[in-house]
Amino acid sequence: MDLVQSLIDAGRRFDARGWVLGTSGNFSAVASRAPLALAITRSGTHKGDLTPADIVEYGDGRVLSGTGSASAETRLHLAIVGARVAAAVLHTHSIWSTLLSHRCAQAGGLAISGYEMLKGLAGVTTHEHREWLPILDNDQDMARLSDEVVRVLREHPGCHGFLLRRHGLYTWGADVAEAVRHVEILEFLLESVARSEEAASWRS
Ligand SMILES: [Zn+2]
Repeated sequence: MDLVQSLIDAGRRFDARGWVLGTSGNFSAVASRAPLALAITRSGTHKGDLTPADIVEYGDGRVLSGTGSASAETRLHLAIVGARVAAAVLHTHSIWSTLLSHRCAQAGGLAISGYEMLKGLAGVTTHEHREWLPILDNDQDMARLSDEVVRVLREHPGCHGFLLRRHGLYTWGADVAEAVRHVEILEFLLESVARSEEAASWRS
């Protein structure tokens, strides 16, 4: 499928779930490897209402085609594509990821295991898998934050995503379809973990 259309479709799916409210979130797909160019959502767009004009091509430090500016978080997408075998990077701002990214920040991350849905993550074959989702402090300095992303991805070579504190989830995939699946799986797991903690707190 056309890369642009697949990013538009991802926006509609995630909006239906409340994961990209306002103009939050951003999506990219690798349009070319050498030289590296991304098809990426431009800033200020609602991801549920994307049109082809809302996706620009970015490479060599600038917008190569399309109008408007690339997402403010483009550097993070480039850091992920450079550090992982990834052809698509998707970023969402759900309530559950936001809450857990704050609650678990002191531990530096969040371990998830024992859920059948873990098997939706690439390479995972059992619910006994332990997924470590690192949490990074949020930062408006994208150069500094992208350096931190590279460091964390190196430190946790098996992770399928990470959280930015009180901000949201980043995940990726070998293509847009796999990245969409990872968003759905991780958002499901985060909601399950947060809701079960909430239910446990009622009993105590
Ligand atoms: Zn964001």
